[in-house]
Amino acid sequence: MTDLLDVQAMARWIQRDGAENILRGMAGYVEDDYRRWERFDKTPRVASHTPFGVIELMPTSDGELYSFKFVNGHPMNPARGFQTVTAFGALADVDNGYPIFLAEMTLLTALRTAATSAMAAKHLARPDARVSAMIGSGSQSEFQALAFRAVLGIEDLRIFDVDPAAMEKMRRNLEPLGFRIHHAASAGEAVEGADIVTTCTADKQLATILTEDMVTPGMHLNAIGGDCPGKTELAPGVLDLGPVFVEFTPQTRIEGEIQQKPADFPVTELWEVIAGRAKGRTSAEQVTIFDSVGFAISDFSGLRYARDANRGTELMGDVDLVANPNDPKDLFSLISVFSPVG
Ligand code: NAD
Repeated sequence: MTDLLDVQAMARWIQRDGAENILRGMAGYVEDDYRRWERFDKTPRVASHTPFGVIELMPTSDGELYSFKFVNGHPMNPARGFQTVTAFGALADVDNGYPIFLAEMTLLTALRTAATSAMAAKHLARPDARVSAMIGSGSQSEFQALAFRAVLGIEDLRIFDVDPAAMEKMRRNLEPLGFRIHHAASAGEAVEGADIVTTCTADKQLATILTEDMVTPGMHLNAIGGDCPGKTELAPGVLDLGPVFVEFTPQTRIEGEIQQKPADFPVTELWEVIAGRAKGRTSAEQVTIFDSVGFAISDFSGLRYARDANRGTELMGDVDLVANPNDPKDLFSLISVFSPVG
């Protein structure tokens, strides 16, 4: 049997343990895995693009465990009553290749993306950062806010979305949890006075959510919504305002904000900062930019964390996923009416 965490179980786990506790713990797992980055198999994700959106497969392995995620990105989905991003994935034992854990990953992607954003900001933002601006109040937004509070203690949020109902939803979800929320009338107003700016909009175009004049000295930019060819959020000039940090360079050159720049545009991989191989922020006035597209190692960390936290609990189900006849050479026994069922 393969362990299973379905949508209901994932939601009940988050309610049971608390999103912020989980985000803090998961950020630790992501950080540990980024520190041992060189041990992983890495490849840009395999993407199937259509006019409607994209479906992607994201594999990796550390030589002991293997993981993959199936994820879609369909910016026009909410208008049709569907989510922009949904996902599921699995962990397998490299020793015999069998899947050992299957999980819904729509909630888990929101958690791992937020955990990765907050972990990156811990290394790149000013340590005295207190005010966060968020452009885009969709599915990822509350998780991002919770992760920044769990890891960096930030409770002051300035938010903007072109959809007033989405902003109202974010306020409704977060104010009862103690966040102080300012609804801005524009992205420009939202970023005024912010120490950390997260862009998490969804639009299949080269959008300019942030322009150079909106960025002030000392800001950390957490750009997560530009994650596909032809889908960006920052004006190209913003990328010249400070060092750009990425997850896996070959994938980010295809999908990230830096797709707008020449192929030799200088970037630093985040793991190098975490492992002490490269500098992160070097002054309080510097602008730092995390050009995040989402990488398979964060999914691996998220799956590992979810499995460790739920193993042996009543939330972990099982699924009969692997055919396992008594005689490993006699797969036919499973369907033969003359053989005992294995
Ligand atoms: P969503 O569709 O639920 O929300 C996106 C929000 O952006 C919507 O409320 C929309 O009204 C708003 N928006 C669109 N254009 C805007 C604009 N010009 N100004 C202000 N607001 C605008 O999407 P989501 O699930 O929250 O995902 C947000 C983005 O993050 C998507 O682009 C998704 O692909 C990306 N994403 C990235 C990662 C990563 O690891 N980097 C992970 C998950 C999702």
